[in-house]
Amino acid sequence: MLDLRSDIKELKGIGPKRAAAFHRIGVHTIYDLLVSYPKRYENGAVQANIAALRPDEDVMVIGRVEQVEERRIRAKLMLLTFFVGDESGKIAVSCFNQPFLKRMLRPGKRICVAGKTSYAYGGRGQLVIKQPRGCFLMEEDSANKELAKFSQIQPVYFLSDPLTQTVFRSAVQETLAQVTLTDILSDEIQRRYGLLPRQEAVRAIHFPRDEAEQNQARRTLAFEELYLIQCGLLYMKKKNTQTKAGIAFSQKGTLAETYRNALPFSLTKDQSRTWKEIERDMGADRPMRRLVQGDVGSGKTVLAAMALLKAVENGYQGALMAPTEILAHQHYDGMAESFQSLGVRLVFLSGKLTPRQKKEALSRIASHEADIIIGTHALLQEGGRYAKLGLVVTDEQHRFGVQQRAMLESKAALLPDVLVMTATPIPRTMMLTIYGDLDISTIRELPPGRPPVRTFLRRFDRRLLIYKYVRDCILKGGQAYVVCPLVETSESQNISSAEEVYDELQAGMFHDIPCGLLHGRMGKQEKAAVMEAFYAGKIKLLVATTVIEVGVNVPNASIMVIEHAERFGLSQLHQLRGRVGRGTRHSDCIMIAEAKTEQAMARLEFMTRIQDGFQLAEEDLRLRGPGAFFSARQHGLPDLKIADVFLDMGLLVEARREAQGEIRRGEDLKHILPLLAMMYQKQFAHILDT
Ligand code: ADP
Ligand code: MG
Repeated sequence: MLDLRSDIKELKGIGPKRAAAFHRIGVHTIYDLLVSYPKRYENGAVQANIAALRPDEDVMVIGRVEQVEERRIRAKLMLLTFFVGDESGKIAVSCFNQPFLKRMLRPGKRICVAGKTSYAYGGRGQLVIKQPRGCFLMEEDSANKELAKFSQIQPVYFLSDPLTQTVFRSAVQETLAQVTLTDILSDEIQRRYGLLPRQEAVRAIHFPRDEAEQNQARRTLAFEELYLIQCGLLYMKKKNTQTKAGIAFSQKGTLAETYRNALPFSLTKDQSRTWKEIERDMGADRPMRRLVQGDVGSGKTVLAAMALLKAVENGYQGALMAPTEILAHQHYDGMAESFQSLGVRLVFLSGKLTPRQKKEALSRIASHEADIIIGTHALLQEGGRYAKLGLVVTDEQHRFGVQQRAMLESKAALLPDVLVMTATPIPRTMMLTIYGDLDISTIRELPPGRPPVRTFLRRFDRRLLIYKYVRDCILKGGQAYVVCPLVETSESQNISSAEEVYDELQAGMFHDIPCGLLHGRMGKQEKAAVMEAFYAGKIKLLVATTVIEVGVNVPNASIMVIEHAERFGLSQLHQLRGRVGRGTRHSDCIMIAEAKTEQAMARLEFMTRIQDGFQLAEEDLRLRGPGAFFSARQHGLPDLKIADVFLDMGLLVEARREAQGEIRRGEDLKHILPLLAMMYQKQFAHILDT
């Protein structure tokens, strides 16, 4: 008996060679096979009157054989042509080397031919069916079976040689006959949402009887997928809520308060609310798992600093992790002075420390001579030993998914609190899919008195003028970014690359101004050196790809030019734009675009009017779909196999509601967790041992 984990080799007809071909497309087990959903379907051929046929149709005609001819084209190539006629007209059918068919074709016999119509070569609009998919005489016993086969919808899969659709289809068919799939969704849920039992749904997604059934199968499987993921996320959340293994930061010390009172401004309403949420989480004896999302400059870092101080005043250590060295440095520079004046001992942990410095830093962390540790994510991975780690704050969580959180949890006896900060606004529904296990605070409001970044959209013909303007601003003491979509020029695309633009500007209009080049293909150190030079004002004009996207803060840089803006998503453009407008100088973002359609220009036009990252994210999602939305960033989202975060938003909300109900009723999810661990190994493999 097959089960979902059985090896694909256990299927009849699949030997080592075919198995290897299956492996190449990621199919190792029976389960993998079943979730290799068809990429599309071939419609079953529809029986048609010959006179009504049009070119390029998949059809089936039934009529009498007329006029059989055979012609020799080359030594071993025979072309067989015959006509089929019904009451309405006749059509030619042609194929090569079919002696068997030729013997079968006797004029006057009723025959069925299935295939695709096309115009006959050199004919005056006459149609022909070339290389028919099937021909059989209607008087044969098997005719009905054959008819049914040709009128059936056929799945078409992503394959690699030497696999054929036929081999794949019969592997799926055999599997379906041999496995019994247990329902994931209860009868009640199935009834409530008009869904199919699992076995039926899986059968019907591969071999639907008609389009309606195919739709219902897709809906069922999408619901099931979203439901499973939600169960997993909510299960983790619940485990986390129930555990008493968190630290209650219940002492009301003076550090956070003093820091707050010393700020030259008061917190915005959103900041205050978020701080209350953080304080409440930290005070409880369950571990905090909170995500704070807010646009660049909305004041998240201030809250992170307060949270770190709260940990310290309770006798614990706090760690702040940033995705890059430079960002870590920025945080350190921003906090060092005020923390030190409070008597808080700070340590900076970075890959750049000499072995001796590093050893010393680690020993201070291990002996609790350091209260707050700031550094890159590597500092968590490398696993220096903390004397008493109470809080981890991570900046830009995309690289800090469920996995790492799980790893953190396995490290300490009492679970540290985790605060995740992100400047990537994510639409709410998507938030649920990705971070359904976190509590979320949103800061929408920007601190008062910050002028918006003036954003312009210009066509290519203004480029020279734009760079003259940039030059003037640099001569007045400013700095500028130029962002390009590609690193190097590719033959196929007529797009200037970062390298090309850098060469052009440095050799031309900016020959007397220090320029820098920054892109992802450069080594880590090389990148850091360029960034530091820009940071220090030694480089005035920085030509870069999107590597500057995250968190970089150079207040003196007040101009950004984005080349080929049409190549970026709105959210990404917004992230890029967030690099300027961080100082007191007024800032400009100039997008150069040559979009082909009005629509594409209208999309960019949006940028010039809207400064709110959430609104842009929603719009981006609406216009480009989740695929494009996500491709640009890294995140902990499981690969959805069939559901579509955007199109299935309604389903997602329903699936989440049902999952919540399940969890609330205290179901143990025994039937779900192992499945989840198998299906989304990367994200959920660890839930079984929590
Ligand atoms: P984020 O981390 O969200 O990008 P920061 O915390 O770095 O934002 O804040 C950006 C800038 O705004 C900093 O210079 C900070 O001092 C300032 N700031 C933060 N909160 C406020 C506020 N409520 N009022 C005025 N300025 C603020
Ligand atoms: Mg706590």
